[in-house]
Amino acid sequence: MLFNNPPLTPSLQQKGDNRMAYVGRFAPSPTGPLHFGSLLTAVASYCDAKAQQGQWYVRIEDTDIPRIYPGSEQHILECLDAFQLYPDAEIIFQKDRLDLYEAVIDQLHLAGQVYACACTRKMLGSNHIYAGTCRDLALPFEQQAIRVKVADQSICFQDRLQGQHCSNLKEDLGDFVLKRRDGIINYQLAVVVDDYLQGITHVVRGADLLDNTERQIWLAQLLGYPTLSYMHLPLAMNAQGQKLSKQNLAQALDPTQAPKLLQQALLALHQPAVDLDQPEIMLQQAVLQWNTNLIPHSIELERHYL
Ligand code: GLU
Repeated sequence: MLFNNPPLTPSLQQKGDNRMAYVGRFAPSPTGPLHFGSLLTAVASYCDAKAQQGQWYVRIEDTDIPRIYPGSEQHILECLDAFQLYPDAEIIFQKDRLDLYEAVIDQLHLAGQVYACACTRKMLGSNHIYAGTCRDLALPFEQQAIRVKVADQSICFQDRLQGQHCSNLKEDLGDFVLKRRDGIINYQLAVVVDDYLQGITHVVRGADLLDNTERQIWLAQLLGYPTLSYMHLPLAMNAQGQKLSKQNLAQALDPTQAPKLLQQALLALHQPAVDLDQPEIMLQQAVLQWNTNLIPHSIELERHYL
C-alpha cells in the first residue's frame, strides 16, 4: 500500500501541498489478458509521465470480482515486466482497499449525497436514465444499491486530445450507482478515490472511458478532491471496426515479442520510430521523442489491429 491511514478528505490532509506536478498511472482491470489496446494506454501513460519528469504508477482495478478472468492479473504483471514498464511505487490492488471505498460512501452518506435504491435494471426503462425514484424514500442501506445524487448542471472538461467534453449528468444518466446490490464497489467510485489517494494528477487512458469522466469529475468535486488533467487516446480497432477488447477476443499480448510490439504501439500513437532494442532502451528513446501533438485527435485509430 502506498498510503497508510490515508486522509479521505482534503480537510484531513496535512498542511502544505506536497502533491507532485505530474503523477500518472496505468490502471488495468484483470477481466481478460492485456491486448494491443491496453499496451497503447500503458505506453502513452508511461511516456507522457516520464517526458514531464513525472512518476508513473500501476493500479490493478479488481473490485468486480465476478468479472475477474483467471490468470489475467498474472498476465498483466508478466507484460509489465517483459515491456520493462517499471512503476515508481508498489503496485496497488483495489480488492485490498474495499474499506477505504466504504469509508467514502459513509462520508457521502453523512453529507446526504447518497441513498439506497431498490430499483431493478428493468425499472429504469429503455433509455437507462435513472429518474431518482428512490431518492427520497430513505431506504435502509443493507443489500441495496447505493446511488450518488447528481445535479442538473453541465459538467465540462478540456481533454488534451478530444477537446471540450460536457455532460449534464441529470439529463444524460441520472443519479448513478457507487455500490451494487451485491456489494461490489463500482469502478467510478474506486477510480476517483484511488486517483486522489495516490496523488494522481494526469489521467491518460482509452477514449472508451471519455463518457465516464464527467461522473468522475462530479464525484471528485463532491469529495473536495482536485480535478485532474485528462487525455483520452484513440482506440485500436479490429478489422470488423470494433474496439479491441477482451469481449471481442482481442489477441493477448505476447510478452516474448515485447520489443516488436512496443515499436508497433509507438507507431500506432504516431510517434517517431524507435530502433529495436531492449524495451527499457526503446522506452528511453520514446520518452525523449514523446510528442502528444502527433497523436491523432480522434476516438478511433484508422489502421486495424488484432
Ligand atoms: N480499469 C479501467 C479499464 O481497464 C481503466 C480505468 C482508468 O484508466 O480510469 O478499463
